Amino acid sequence: MGSGQKRGGSKIYILYVSVMDLKKISLWLEEAGQPKFRLKQITDAVYKKGAATFDEITALPEPLRNAIKEKFRILAIEPETILESRAGDAVKGSFWLKDKQKIESVLLNLFPGKWSICVSTQVGCPVQCVFCATGRRGLKRNLSPDEIVSQYIFWANYLKKYRPGEKIGGVVYMGMGEPFLNYEAVAESLKVLTDPGLIGLGDRHISVSTVGHVPGIRRFAKDFPQVNLAVSLHAVDNELRSTLVPLNDKYPLDQISKALKDYIYTTKRKVFIEYVMLGGINDSQSCARRLTDWLKSVAAPKYFTVNIIPYNQTDREYKAPTKERVEAFSNLLLTLNTSATVRKSLGSDIAGACGQLAGK
Ligand code: SF4
Repeated sequence: MGSGQKRGGSKIYILYVSVMDLKKISLWLEEAGQPKFRLKQITDAVYKKGAATFDEITALPEPLRNAIKEKFRILAIEPETILESRAGDAVKGSFWLKDKQKIESVLLNLFPGKWSICVSTQVGCPVQCVFCATGRRGLKRNLSPDEIVSQYIFWANYLKKYRPGEKIGGVVYMGMGEPFLNYEAVAESLKVLTDPGLIGLGDRHISVSTVGHVPGIRRFAKDFPQVNLAVSLHAVDNELRSTLVPLNDKYPLDQISKALKDYIYTTKRKVFIEYVMLGGINDSQSCARRLTDWLKSVAAPKYFTVNIIPYNQTDREYKAPTKERVEAFSNLLLTLNTSATVRKSLGSDIAGACGQLAGK
């Protein structure tokens, strides 16, 4: 990877790699006559302690820090704006990529003192779910593994600076994009997140959310059986689901059902079902009944938790369900022996809630 940079009027070409390109850094350190432990000092500082610039890695001697930052950068993303919600429970970042594309990523405070990072995997999204602001943009390009992991490192660094002592509880792949349409990069980033020698997050602290990409579900079952799988279902009849999620035409409900049966058989893991609830469209009692029937046709209720996500306003024509409808839907699921939670909406005042990320 190469990129030109203007410095004091003359153009200097620097090697633009993130610290994830460890082989290149290792080679450079060797050529610079540095001892082997320097690489570990760098990886520990970045992956374990959230250093986002070489200046923060004070374990390195200053001349080395100055030399290395001329050649390498840690983050493959550049923050543009950082917005904090009024309640202080969500922070949204907009980031420039090196080709001037833009993405967004969110830090969410789901439990006291513990934050979740919601990462994006694509610039825009080709799936174009009708209620989603990201889908409106169509797909610009896939993110690289560096660009995905950089979102994690940026937020780890942010917490260290602005919320010292608070921890990252998990990472959710629920930002812009359909993760399984960028499978290779997502898989690489998961390896970095879970490698005990690098970031070392527990597999079960990570969730990957798909809209029902069947080949992706099948691959994921083999490659990452301990990482949580979330499936955005939203409806269990093909006609309605295809109007909400156009990918349903390619992978309709019977294929998703078979893939989930196989997933559960192979992994013995629970699946999280995401259900964006749209007022007057999929919030009725009969929708709740059909949802539980469909889930029971796939596997025993213990294998599912339904996360109801009341629609967050975007510039689309849909409206949020009433509080009463959400409650009635959730209560009926529980009565029918299906575990259900209602997702607390965080960050809607900064357009950082589910379905609102647009990267505009
Ligand atoms: S909801 Fe997810 S899959 Fe659907 S358009 Fe938005 S980002 Fe893409």
